[in-house]
Amino acid sequence: CFCQLEGQVDDCECNVDTVDFFNNVKIFPRLQSLLVKDFFRFYKVNLKRPCPFWEDDGRCSQTTCRVKCCNEDELPIGLKAGAPVESKEDPAFKYTEEAQTEKDDEADCDGDSLGDLNTTISASRQKRLDRWTAHDDAQDNFCDVDDESSADMQFVDLLLNPERFTGYRGDSSTRVWSAIYNENCFNLPYRSGLCLEERVFYRAISGLHTSITVHLCADYLLSEGCRGLDRLAPGTAKWGPNPAEFHRRFDPETTYGQGPSRLKNLYFLYLLELRALAKAAPYLSQLEYFTGNEEEDQEVRMAIRDILAVISSFPSHFNESELFRGGKQARKLKIEFRDHFRNISRIMDCVGCEKCKLWGTLQTRGLGTALKILFSGNFDDPAVFQEGSTRRPKFQLSRNEIVALFNAFGSRIEKHRGPMEDAMETEHQETTP
Ligand code: FAD
Repeated sequence: CFCQLEGQVDDCECNVDTVDFFNNVKIFPRLQSLLVKDFFRFYKVNLKRPCPFWEDDGRCSQTTCRVKCCNEDELPIGLKAGAPVESKEDPAFKYTEEAQTEKDDEADCDGDSLGDLNTTISASRQKRLDRWTAHDDAQDNFCDVDDESSADMQFVDLLLNPERFTGYRGDSSTRVWSAIYNENCFNLPYRSGLCLEERVFYRAISGLHTSITVHLCADYLLSEGCRGLDRLAPGTAKWGPNPAEFHRRFDPETTYGQGPSRLKNLYFLYLLELRALAKAAPYLSQLEYFTGNEEEDQEVRMAIRDILAVISSFPSHFNESELFRGGKQARKLKIEFRDHFRNISRIMDCVGCEKCKLWGTLQTRGLGTALKILFSGNFDDPAVFQEGSTRRPKFQLSRNEIVALFNAFGSRIEKHRGPMEDAMETEHQETTP
């Protein structure tokens, strides 16, 4: 309790206590059981993409930094090669797409003229669809779209590769954080005079940094003298919370008074992602969450609807409608905001520790997806989601975006690892070369 947080979360009309209570009682238990389901535990990522900004300055080779990618036979059937993945053929969208096609067909077949007319309608529908896809990909993503065809994209089991202390530090990590703050974060001296959009950007990035720091402190390698996992006999590593490390990183005395506001930025980020989930609830609640295991998929669909209803009931969300108001200037600022964020997502390829890169990439993608929902789409347009509507949502999310969003949101909250995860971890450690 060296820095008991209290009061309002800056730039949000919401108290720290309100968020704590809502999260601990309503969100955390639900999310905890959702994120262990197959749909959410397998994330596809390219960890081999080179750093586009500077020569790679060395890779961390410690066991704590390594990521174990999945073999094909470890994946659920719906995610194996050959099963349709990503974009419009993504199994996550089976329901929407099929339902939509049926509705479109009904609309097209209305009346008695067939033949040429049908072809024209299909062609115009295809054109609309192509335009929509091109528009979506080019303009509205806050992160670069992954090249799904790349052989370097691999599935990772997030439960076997938890976010935790890795020992990554020094010049390499400092360089990444400096690049993020100095080059991309509207980081004016002392951040005075920043407009709301710039403050939001800074707070979100700082919140992400806090999230990473809190996790490494909460799941620290505690084994004797912290000699590093490599020198310990397999299965003997002791992991757990390290309050002294947390203290060092957030105590006002050791952080020139910055610790508490950095912690509050984590609450800010939580509220931003919470709002994105609420906004996209009508869209997210009608997806299929397909993995090929019908029983579990059904459970996931029900759990998603339940958690989205709870999220939507939260009384004081982050208010995105206050941002980017006004004409030309606001549009320019929005483009700048998006470009800065894309740069940050590319900087993740410069992280020299695979495990940190995995979680850094996932969290950035999750935040990018939240920003896309808040500022690009019509995910909450009642005309699109009402019963019987034939209108198509203007934007879609890929499976990877959804997995990243939920896991990033989940990683903002305290995780309690159960004996199952510990057992899997030991097994992983013993089998990792
Ligand atoms: P750092 O955390 O490196 O911070 C650098 C400077 O940034 C600080 O001196 C301070 O001035 C400022 N700062 C710190 N926090 C904030 C904040 N919240 N808001 C604004 N400014 C801030 N290590 C792990 O053990 N596990 C991981 O999973 C992990 N993931 C990482 C992911 C990424 C993308 C990166 C770049 C690094 C990751 N690291 C991870 C390393 C970790 O973040 C630290 O860099 C490392 O522990 C060294 O910490 P430090 O005390 O030097 O300060």
